[in-house]
Amino acid sequence: MTAPTPLIAGNWKMNGDAASIDEARSVAAQLGGKEVRVAICPPATLIERMSRALAGTAVIVGAQDCHCDETGAFTGDISAEMLADAGARLVILGHSERRAGYGETDELVSHKVAAALRAGLEPIVCVGETLEQRKAGNALAVVTGQVRGSLPSELAGKAWSVAYEPVWAIGTGLTPTISEIEEMHTAIRATLRELFGAEGDSPPILYGGSVKPANAAQILHAAEVGGALVGGASLEAEDFLGIIRAL
Ligand code: PEP
Repeated sequence: MTAPTPLIAGNWKMNGDAASIDEARSVAAQLGGKEVRVAICPPATLIERMSRALAGTAVIVGAQDCHCDETGAFTGDISAEMLADAGARLVILGHSERRAGYGETDELVSHKVAAALRAGLEPIVCVGETLEQRKAGNALAVVTGQVRGSLPSELAGKAWSVAYEPVWAIGTGLTPTISEIEEMHTAIRATLRELFGAEGDSPPILYGGSVKPANAAQILHAAEVGGALVGGASLEAEDFLGIIRAL
């Protein structure tokens, strides 16, 4: 089985305005010929403009969340179809900031994943334990439980990925040890095989949580790490490129 093509995705969160599109242009202009897929997920307000700006480049534009329904009376929400219409090709779902801040459950995330697939978007499904859960020795059980609960059967035959993002590593500068990352990614891979059989070998398993140019090479070359989901360090082209070049 050949390893999945690595994916490095930037999550801009609630950051960026029209001027920030220059950072994305700069990433696209300096991508080498590496065997890697690169995505940037700006706030929804920038998806259309960024898609136009990056048309014809290798950088994929993505979104950070979607609603489950196609249309309806859901003030402030955006459907997967609308994101696709604006130019998004993938979508981050189940990020811990949405699980914690908006009470998103595995069940809701699973419905959102199905909605993304319905609209032709490639989902990146996030999972990860809190510090309390890790300290209590429950990290593996929590994360593999999230994997089981958040991945609908509709994923079979489609392109998608999982992002392991320990909640305590996001935006903190802290990271798990390489052996902790490898242990978790190996457990996630085993769960994907349980759920999807041989197809469970295909989705890249990204690591996310304080990835920077300085630690990227070690993390990206760890066993079963198929790329990275990058928050803060994706906002500046030079930092993001430093991570991509570390592959
Ligand atoms: C994230 O929020 O997905 C993330 C990985 O953030 P950071 O890289 O800033 O820790």
